Amino acid sequence: MAKQRYEGSCHCGQIRFVVEGDLDTATLCNCSICTKKGFIHLIVPPEAFQLLSGQTELATYSFNTHVAKHHFCRVCGMHPFYIPRSDPDKIDVNVRCLDGIPLENYQFPTFNGRDWEQAIEGKVSWRDESRPSRDSDPIPIAKMTQKTLKRD
Ligand SMILES: [Zn+2]
Repeated sequence: MAKQRYEGSCHCGQIRFVVEGDLDTATLCNCSICTKKGFIHLIVPPEAFQLLSGQTELATYSFNTHVAKHHFCRVCGMHPFYIPRSDPDKIDVNVRCLDGIPLENYQFPTFNGRDWEQAIEGKVSWRDESRPSRDSDPIPIAKMTQKTLKRD
């Protein structure tokens, strides 16, 4: 598959966004929070993402190292995207929140987030090279509204 453009939202629709990414790079994760959330990760650079609406409805949960920013909709509780600990200079979009994806047709590989420190040193599907970007500052929400993708 190749990069495609998708629109997505939380459940109540306050938070809407557009993203450009390749679903072949998407992964599940077996760590404590992703298991409970059922998050399917599509990690993209900030220029491949634009928050269209709902900036003021976003709440943020963080724990442990507090690098990851687990954004969620304060109205409906969905987690449509967040800033991942592995790549705080990127945006991790929940494939479950994209419009019109027939998820039953996909099989996503699992990232071994339960042993995060070891797993992140290996080859991961969302990076071309092994250079870790995890020392970057997390992308602030305000930056996500910048128009980086051309609207149709
Ligand atoms: Zn919502």
